[in-house]
Amino acid sequence: MLVVDDSAVNQRVATRMLENMGIGWTSPANGREAVAAVQNEAYAAVLMDCQMPHMDGFEATMPSAARKRGGKRIRSSR
Ligand SMILES: [Mg+2]
Repeated sequence: MLVVDDSAVNQRVATRMLENMGIGWTSPANGREAVAAVQNEAYAAVLMDCQMPHMDGFEATMPSAARKRGGKRIRSSR
C-alpha cells in the first residue's frame, strides 16, 4: 500500500495501523513522488492526503495519472 501524507504524525498513524494488520507499505515524500511510484509499481491501494505542498492529493490523483497506470480508477473521498 502507498501512504502519502505531508504530516509525519498522520503518516506514522497510518503506517502503524497497516503494520498491525500485516500490510506492507511504502511512503513517498510527496505527491510528485507518489505519482512516480504508482506509474512504476502496482499498489493494491493508495492512501493520499488531499492537502500537501507542491502537489496535493487531488492533483496527484487526476484522471490523467490514472490513465498512465493502465486505466485503473482512482477514487477520492472528496
Ligand atoms: Mg497535509
